[in-house]
Amino acid sequence: MSKNPYPMRMCCGCRVSRAKGELIRIVRTEDGKAIIDKSCRLPGRGAYICHSEECIAKAEKKNRLAGCFKANVHVQIYSELRELVKGV
Ligand SMILES: [Zn+2]
Repeated sequence: MSKNPYPMRMCCGCRVSRAKGELIRIVRTEDGKAIIDKSCRLPGRGAYICHSEECIAKAEKKNRLAGCFKANVHVQIYSELRELVKGV
């Protein structure tokens, strides 16, 4: 029962599990907005996605973030994510 020091999370785009630190965390607020959680410290349900335009495009096509949150999210998050990975 040792604690896993590298928690794995699944990307909403490619559905591959990666170490948490390799993914972008997104948090859904109560009013249905999704925000990029750069500090990884915001409360609430989180979803994760790779630092990859490809994964963002995949997720956007089927609005998979909504699936990850099990709730609808404002689609504006996808353009915000794209801007974020382009800036890297
Ligand atoms: Zn991915």
